[in-house]
Amino acid sequence: MNTQEMYERMKARLEKVVPDVELRIKAELAAQIVDLKKEKNAVILGHNYMEPALFYSIPDFTGDSLDLSRKAAQTDRDVIIFCGVRFMAETAKILNPSKTVLLPSEKAGCSLAASITAADVRALKARFPGVPVVSYVNTYADVKAESDICCTSSNAAAVVESLHADTVIFLPDEYLARNVARETGKHIVFPSLTPHPSPTGGGAQLDYQLIGWHGRCEVHEKFTLADIEAVRAQFPDVVILSHPECSPEVVAASDFSGSTNAMIRYVQQTKAPHFLVLTECAMGDNIAAANPEKDMLRLCMVRCPHMNTITLEDTLNALKLNRYVIEIPEDIRRRARSAVERMIAIG
Ligand code: SF4
Repeated sequence: MNTQEMYERMKARLEKVVPDVELRIKAELAAQIVDLKKEKNAVILGHNYMEPALFYSIPDFTGDSLDLSRKAAQTDRDVIIFCGVRFMAETAKILNPSKTVLLPSEKAGCSLAASITAADVRALKARFPGVPVVSYVNTYADVKAESDICCTSSNAAAVVESLHADTVIFLPDEYLARNVARETGKHIVFPSLTPHPSPTGGGAQLDYQLIGWHGRCEVHEKFTLADIEAVRAQFPDVVILSHPECSPEVVAASDFSGSTNAMIRYVQQTKAPHFLVLTECAMGDNIAAANPEKDMLRLCMVRCPHMNTITLEDTLNALKLNRYVIEIPEDIRRRARSAVERMIAIG
C-alpha cells in the first residue's frame, strides 16, 4: 500500500482526533508495516487500547483480549504480532504454539498481571484446599497454569457461577472481584498469606464465598466518585460508562458497566446527549473516532503506561528484526491452555 492511500484511509477516520502532521508521519510508517506484514505472512492483532493512529491503520483484527485470543487461535499465518501487552501475547502463544508470536515492546507489562505470582497461587491453594481458582485473563502464563479456569471482564460472573462451588478463589483484581461478588451476591474476603487458621487469623468460622487478591489496574483505580459527581454537576444528562476494573463505588454510580467491547456496543446502540467513558484514554479516542456523531466527553486521566509502549515504530522493528519472541515452557503452556479453553467455552 502506498503512503498516500494509507494517509487518506487514516484521515477519513481520524481527522478530528489526530493532528494532520502526525497523521502524515504515521501513515508512512503504517504503509511500510502493511507491506512487510504481507512479505512475512504475519497477522497483526490490535487491542482496543492502542493509540488511534495504530488502531485504525495496521491491525487485521481489533478487539478486547478475548476476541483477539480467538483470532490468534484461528490464524493460519506464520507470525502473530500482538499490539497489546505481554499477557495477551502469551495467551496467543498458549492457544497457537506452532506460530511465532511477537510483542513489539519488551516493556509492555501490566500492573494486574504483575500483582500475583504462581507461588502466590500455590500458597492460596494450600491454604484453601479443593477450592477452585478463577484467574482473570490479565495474568501471566504460569499463574494461568495454576488455575482451573480463566475469565474476562465480560464473563467473570458467569465463570464463577459455572463452577457451582460454595467457595471460589478469584484472582488477582480486587475491584473486579468486589464487583463480581456484588453481582453474584457472594461475600468476599481478602486473606493474607501468613499462616493463620482462618482468613481473619482468629480461627472464627467466616461466611465467605469469594476469596480475592489485592491486585489493581493502575489505570482504572484512578477514577473516583468525585470525578463522576463533578461531571454530572456540569452535564446532568450525561450517560457514564465504566469498566469493571474501576472501584465498586464508581461502578455503582455509573449508568453502565462492562468490558471494553460491551462499552463500545453500548455507545453505538444508545442515544444520549453526552457520553463519558471511564477507561483508558486511547480507547476513549478510538470510540470517539468511530462515532463522530456522538458527543463524547473526555476525562482522560491516565494512559496505560504499558499499552503506551506499543508504537508503530516498534511494530515495524518487530517485523524487521523478528522481536520480541514470546516463549512459554511446554508444561506451563499445556496447563494454562486448559484454563483458557474452559474460559473460551463459556464465551
Ligand atoms: S489498562 Fe490496566 S489492566 Fe490493562 S494493561 Fe494497563 S495496567 Fe493492565
